[in-house]
Parts: sequence; structure tokens; C-alpha cells
Amino acid sequence: MMKRKGVVAVVATSILVAAAGVATAATGVASGADPQGAQGSHGNKPKNIIFLLGDGMGTQEITAARYYQGVHNELNVDRMQYTGFDTTWSVKPAAQPPYLPDYDPDSASTGTMWATGKKTIDERISQGPSSAENVPGPNLKTVLEFAQQRGMKVGDVSTAEITDATPAVLASHISLRGCQGPANMAACPTETKAAGGLGSIAEQMVDHNVDVLLGGGRARFEQTITGGPFAGQTVVQQAQSQGYQYVTDAAGLQGVNDDSPVLGLFNSGNMSLEWSGPSASLGKGNAPTPCTENQRPANEPSLADMTSSALDLLENKKGFFLQVEGASIDKQDHATNACGQIGETVAFDDAIGVALDYQWSHPRTLVVVTADHSHTSQIVGEDASGSGLPTGYSTNLLTKDGQTLSLTYGTAGYGGAGSAPVGVPPSQQHTGAVVPVWGNGPGANAILGTNDHTDLFKVLGG
Ligand code: MG
Ligand code: ZN
Repeated sequence: MMKRKGVVAVVATSILVAAAGVATAATGVASGADPQGAQGSHGNKPKNIIFLLGDGMGTQEITAARYYQGVHNELNVDRMQYTGFDTTWSVKPAAQPPYLPDYDPDSASTGTMWATGKKTIDERISQGPSSAENVPGPNLKTVLEFAQQRGMKVGDVSTAEITDATPAVLASHISLRGCQGPANMAACPTETKAAGGLGSIAEQMVDHNVDVLLGGGRARFEQTITGGPFAGQTVVQQAQSQGYQYVTDAAGLQGVNDDSPVLGLFNSGNMSLEWSGPSASLGKGNAPTPCTENQRPANEPSLADMTSSALDLLENKKGFFLQVEGASIDKQDHATNACGQIGETVAFDDAIGVALDYQWSHPRTLVVVTADHSHTSQIVGEDASGSGLPTGYSTNLLTKDGQTLSLTYGTAGYGGAGSAPVGVPPSQQHTGAVVPVWGNGPGANAILGTNDHTDLFKVLGG
């Protein structure tokens, strides 16, 4: 990690000098030694937009990854110029406005916020609020749809199923996030193709002709379509008949080209985790142990590799919009899996590094990084004597500085009859704190200060 970043720093310095010259010539404003800062404050429109979302990556999660890696070993996100905060509250169902705030949102409602600029209810994918979760709301136009209208190429990349809420909000509109494939539509009966609707999330992602779709979720696309022109075929077959190149492993991804769109589905469900480690337990937790790295099978590309491939495939003279999600930070935070969570955060940060390196050589690129909601994990004292033991599920990790990093998960515990037995951690809850936002490049200064997640819509070209 240190070595790789040292190499990047040397490259970045030489490009920085070149970029400073370009920025000064183009604007007549002296930019000094800070070309990216100058570009950010000019407010000029970016040609390319790279949006990276760490699901559930609140300040505790990014700090846990930073501390695990070593306090003197900067993360890639620390190279970014601007930092702000966003509130992420969603709204409660109602027949009409006003919609009252819900302080603890999910990835569907927050995704709809940044993708469409509008508040909505939890579970909802780029539709407005309504009287109940299972009553469809009005479809809302997304930043991906605006980008396509401007002639830009578009990409959507995730370590989750590509039909999961975060990637779904860009290229589908549906009342419930669970309606992911043609066989998962029982809860969305009026929105199937047979009923004259837009169909499942998988069908809609392909119908949108997204140029690059990379992630997990192959099983959704192997389901059989039940209505419309492709009835009787799988979603994969639909994609192929629309001209998609279809690949299922890392080697296949290396073989695609930018002549036609690419659908890469590298796991039947969510993609495999990067790291593993000790299980959390109630109270003080285990004796300090390091995480076990390099657990992802080689046939699944890393998030950084998918980001690199997407950038290669999307680059064109009209520009592009690319979303990259580190999805399992959230999923492993729910699971009280500290090493799983930190490994996914580090992998997400590697993808941020790929985006920033691209931006250094393509300065008309805006890079925005954020999370969609805060989460459970808390960094607590390694020596609890005198203050009592944590009440949640704890894990003690031996960091790369050789010190003990104690993480505890305490937003869901034993809840009585019907809940998980004592000692078995139930799924932890999201939390409601503001999330960090980072930005680099033209227009990035718009994220400064404290804003709302809906304000990202304009920043991202809505
Ligand atoms: Mg997500
Ligand atoms: Zn979650």
C-alpha cells in the first residue's frame, strides 16, 4: 500500500505541473500550486463525472479503516481537496405532502436523493413518496438519464448485486427495492411488464442501455422474463439480443471492448469479501488478532479493477457518468464483521485511488465520494477497566501499527422472544448521523459545508 502510493505521488506531481499550466492558460486565473483547488472554485462544468459511494461508510467506518492500515499511512480519500457533510434523512409515507422526516434512512431512499434530487420513503427506487411502501409513487428522472440525454456514456459498478438499491436508483424506477428480478415481483404486482409496468430492476437496467454494468447478481439476470417483447427469455438473453457483451469473470472482463455495452456479473449474489477475521462477541471481545487479507477469489475482479475497466470502456469525447459502489461496508457492518467491513472499505479506497489517478491525467473530471448513511461500528477504548465493558458485540484487531483497535457494534441486541439467541448478533441498524462528502475537480467546491444528500443531484449533473 505504502509503496503503491509512493509511485502514485511521483506521477501525480508531474501531472500536477502540466495541469496547472492548462488551468492557467484556459482561465487566465493564476492557480498557484493548487490546480485542483482552482478548478473546484471556478465552477466550470466537468466533462466526466465519477461518483463513488461507500454504502454505510460513515466517519467511524472510514476512520476504522484508516487506523487499521496505520495512522501514518494515508488513505486515497485523504488526497481529496474538499470535504463537507450531508444530512440523509428520508421521509415517511403519506397520501400527500407534507412528508414527515425519518431520521434513519436506507440505501434506496438516500440513493433516490442523490440520483434524483428528491426526498422519498425507505425501500423506494427513484420514485417519489406515496401513502404506503407498496403503493408506487411517481417516477423521478435520474442523473444517469440526464447524462444519457446529453450524449454521455454511463456506467454503474458495485460489489453488491447490480440490482441492489444503490446501483438500481440510477437506471430503474420501482416502489420496492426487493423487486430485483423477474421472479422477485410478487410485492410489485402492478409494475411487472405483463401488467404494463417497467418490469423488475434487472430488466430496467438492461432496458436503459447502460454502457457498463459490472457487479454481482447473476442469479437475478438468469431469471425468466414473464411479459413484454422478451417474455420467455432470461434477462441475460435480453441483454445479449440488445447487443450487450456478457462476461462472468475477471478474464472475460479483460477481453471486452467499447464497441457495444458490457454486462459483467461476477457472482450469483453479492461479490466475495476481500478480508476475513475474528467474530464479534458480547462484552470485551477476542484477544487482538490481525485480519486475514486476500480472500476474494481471483476470478472475481476487485472493485479497483472494475473501476479501471469501466473508465477504459467509458472514455469518449462527449464525456461520461460513472457510479462506483463499495456495497459490503454496509453489509458487513450489519453482520458485526469488523475485518469484512474494513477490507471492503480499503478496497473501496483503492477504487477511489483509481478515480483520482484518472482525474490527475483528465482534469476535466469531477470526482465525488460519499456514503449514503451512517452505520453502527464504534471505535472504543482498548482498555475498558474503570469504565465498564462495551454492551455491544466487540472485536479487537491488531493494527498494522501493532496496536489494539477495539470496535463495538451495539445498535441491535437481544430483544426477547422471537429474536436471535443471546450471543448471536442480530443485524445491526443504520444510524442517522450526517455523512462525509469529498470532492475534487471542476464543480467540487459545491460540496463544502453542510448540505443535504438531495443537493448532490445538481453536483452530479442533474
Ligand atoms: Mg448499496
Ligand atoms: Zn444497510
